Amino acid sequence: MSKIVKIGNINIGGGNKIAVQSMSTLRLSDEKRAILQTLELEKAGCDIIRFSVLDELDAKSISNIKKSINIPLVADIHFDYKLALLAIENGADKIRINPGNIGGEENVKAVAKALKEYNVPVRVGSNTGSIEKEFLSKYGKNEISLGESALKNVSYLEKYGVENIVISVKASSVPLMVKAYEYVAKRTDYPLHLGVTEAGTEYSGIIKNSAGIGALLIKGIGDTIRVSLSAEPIREVLCAKTLLNSLELASDMVDVIACPTCGRCAWDCMAFANEVSEYVKNINKKLKIAVMGCVVNGPGEGKDADIGIAGGVDSCVIFKKGEIIQKVSFDKVKEVFFKEIDKCIQ
Ligand code: SF4
Repeated sequence: MSKIVKIGNINIGGGNKIAVQSMSTLRLSDEKRAILQTLELEKAGCDIIRFSVLDELDAKSISNIKKSINIPLVADIHFDYKLALLAIENGADKIRINPGNIGGEENVKAVAKALKEYNVPVRVGSNTGSIEKEFLSKYGKNEISLGESALKNVSYLEKYGVENIVISVKASSVPLMVKAYEYVAKRTDYPLHLGVTEAGTEYSGIIKNSAGIGALLIKGIGDTIRVSLSAEPIREVLCAKTLLNSLELASDMVDVIACPTCGRCAWDCMAFANEVSEYVKNINKKLKIAVMGCVVNGPGEGKDADIGIAGGVDSCVIFKKGEIIQKVSFDKVKEVFFKEIDKCIQ
């Protein structure tokens, strides 16, 4: 089992729940909008938010933004160790940086000192674009070079006594990413941040992320996830939550199941399933809802659900654990079924 690393008020690793991360599309220095976006993501179930830190203004905005948000803030820094120091001083809950590319030993030492002084964790890692040259020439582009690059970055910080480390080894290739995380998981007990890089537009991105992150989580590898999509961050969070729910790793989310429909279906079951999903998307409660195409098989096939609905010819039936409790005409279906859902979540 991985060791526990504390990021603000969230513990990851050591069997804690898998934390959902997203990355803001905004600058920290755009404070008002950055706060609004973070609050929206919090509401959708985001546990940790990451921002790029591009300059001093961004780093200094961290302290202001933190006063208005409730989830840990991660500062993502490339190359500039001084920005890392400033972000830490301004209250960043975690830093994302690679010590191998911040300009040498003295800079690594300074960052390590600040991380320890402020008790701030750090994520180090590699992706297929940042594999260290020595490993690339020795192994080529594969899981070994990706994994060894990340572990080398870990060693730079361990040398100066940093212990609160999270590791990532991302690739846009799903099989490579899975193998790289497996490689690292065998060699270290630091928590792992899972992700697929450049996963693509929303549709293919969701599939790639689900395949890669899902394959690892189901084997017990991974402690925090970021579903990376070329879409609004809220889509990343909703996808991550649904992924965790489908792997039965989320304890506080409604699961809407729906049948694929067939010739027995005589109502617009698919549209209704979407309406139900939309209605419950921000409800933090473990509940299973079934939306089924027909009364012949629906209540039986959906009997695992706490509550369900199945369509007939001119009406629907509402059932609980497979037992029909009510018949409702089509024109009242939405009103009555949503009221029943409300009763279940009270
Ligand atoms: S529940 Fe009814 S409509 Fe849906 S797939 Fe099964 S038989 Fe077809």
